[in-house]
Amino acid sequence: MVSKPEPSSITLDATSVTIMWKDGHRSVYSARQLRLLCPCAQCVEEWTGRALLNPMTVQDGIYAVEYMPIGQYAVQFLWSDAHYTGIYTHQFLRDVCPCEVCSLEREGNPTKEGKA
Ligand SMILES: [Zn+2]
Ligand SMILES: [Zn+2]
Repeated sequence: MVSKPEPSSITLDATSVTIMWKDGHRSVYSARQLRLLCPCAQCVEEWTGRALLNPMTVQDGIYAVEYMPIGQYAVQFLWSDAHYTGIYTHQFLRDVCPCEVCSLEREGNPTKEGKA
């Protein structure tokens, strides 16, 4: 059984969100990128997965003000535009890790458990 990714620490700064994972992996997300990926019902249509959020409405300088762990499986961020309804599961965060290793892995294994 593949163990679920678990963050060991989450660091917020003015432009990015950094997650250190318990397996030693490090993910650095652009805060704006992560905000645009918000999976909440206001930003993504629940049944179709269609994006409802217009990227033009998300300011460039957006950043994460605060985060809150949700149970053992997810994290909720409070963004500087006062949006906070998105619940980002650890699996989701790991899946969208923008680092080179993960990007290459996604390209190499396009079918790997990623079917939404
Ligand atoms: Zn949202
Ligand atoms: Zn990665």
